[in-house]
Amino acid sequence: MRVERMTPDPARTIWQDQLLTCAECQTEWVWTATEQKLQGTAEPPTRCPACRILAPPPGHQRGVVKWYNPTKGYGFITLASGEELFFHRSSLPAEGAPPTAGDLVQFAVSENERGCQAVAVVVLARGQAHEISGERRPPRATSSNRSS
Ligand SMILES: [Zn+2]
Repeated sequence: MRVERMTPDPARTIWQDQLLTCAECQTEWVWTATEQKLQGTAEPPTRCPACRILAPPPGHQRGVVKWYNPTKGYGFITLASGEELFFHRSSLPAEGAPPTAGDLVQFAVSENERGCQAVAVVVLARGQAHEISGERRPPRATSSNRSS
């Protein structure tokens, strides 16, 4: 989603609050300096935060994790349509706890000769499944990382 424009002038990278109009709901909203810094770009988003929360960005979909096996390194996401989509560990962010059943995730769909799979999988909201099971183990530095 990159539009070719003039290369950003580093001198122009002065973060300040900007008043923008959402392309989706036409509401005026403030693009805060903080958000700009986090995003690291002077390219303003086209939609307000509410619209970005309510709807996935173009090219992305949402679904609920059916299961994910950290040992095997893959799992499945159930889509609203009822279809199930494979995803691999390599499509998860490097940081953070792995998804567990019931998590709401956002992802893009990539298609290759072996079929479709979810990529760039991001957990939007943790589901309740792991609270019920109570046996979730984040893959933090455990026995394998012990330095002695
Ligand atoms: Zn909006």
